[in-house]
Amino acid sequence: CGIFAYLNYLVEKDRRYIVDTLLTGLSRLEYRGYDSAGIAIDGDEEGQVLIHKQVGKVHALRKKINEDKSLDFTKTFVSHTSMAHTRWATHGQPSERNSHPHRSDPKNEFLVVHNGIITNYKELRTVLEKKGYVFESDTDTECIAKLAKYLFDSQKGNKSLSFTSLTKAVIKELEGAFALILKSTHFPNEVVATRRGSPLLIGVKTAKKLKVDFVDVEFGMSETQDKLAEDGENLLTPADPTHPKIRRSQSRAFLSEDGMPQPIEYFLASDPSAIVEHTKRVLYLEDDDIAHINEGELHIHRLRREDGISAIRSIQTLE
Ligand code: GLU
Repeated sequence: CGIFAYLNYLVEKDRRYIVDTLLTGLSRLEYRGYDSAGIAIDGDEEGQVLIHKQVGKVHALRKKINEDKSLDFTKTFVSHTSMAHTRWATHGQPSERNSHPHRSDPKNEFLVVHNGIITNYKELRTVLEKKGYVFESDTDTECIAKLAKYLFDSQKGNKSLSFTSLTKAVIKELEGAFALILKSTHFPNEVVATRRGSPLLIGVKTAKKLKVDFVDVEFGMSETQDKLAEDGENLLTPADPTHPKIRRSQSRAFLSEDGMPQPIEYFLASDPSAIVEHTKRVLYLEDDDIAHINEGELHIHRLRREDGISAIRSIQTLE
């Protein structure tokens, strides 16, 4: 099983490059074993997402995509987010409908790729089905996409809701092991990546030297904050950060030498073997880190404030 995602920001790439990068990334992870594969890329219209899935080998998926006459491979994107997955089925037979990415709804508002096992998926699924969600697969994974939409919809009107706080609310409900990447039509050109027990790392490729080669981590709500939030109406609204008991670490994004937005590419994967051919500069996520890539900047957030967890994630150079 494997996860791969590719993001370009202010770097013009055509769809051929994006698709090839995803499929090559997946093929580097083949040795981990899998039974099916899938990708999600942006469509020609704004807000449109295209999903391709195939049971069997990555080359079978490549063939299927190449034969899709509706795909314009010459279409270019200055900024684009895409993701890919090889599945080793744990819940639900290997089949196209059980392959990832999984979606929240037919409009693909939230898409997820997942490695691992969600042990409380049955409870989550039952709750979501009662709320009217119609499941399309037998996987444990699908409840993540639907939970994201449910929590997002319950916050409609909250303009300050970020992809990060939404993801925090989602993973607070999850039990088990996971590496996840989420993409959403509500947060175009943004990606969130998080893990607990399953590996995930981020490769960073820039033309110019980076001003900083580390990312300050922003701590999430402390237990006190959790209490404050739960006492309030709204679980997703972060508690008042000026509250005396609440201290936050400043999240510092990755910056170029001059501090200006710069062309940058990110390669996310469950294994460095899918990244090294693009860049040797990588950052490993720790359990309950939430990486948010937005406007080319990478920020790392923590689910909760915990002692003993470093407040900095450094970018390392692979051998
Ligand atoms: N548990 C998920 C599934 O069965 C993910 C498996 C994997 O790690 O590929 O679909």
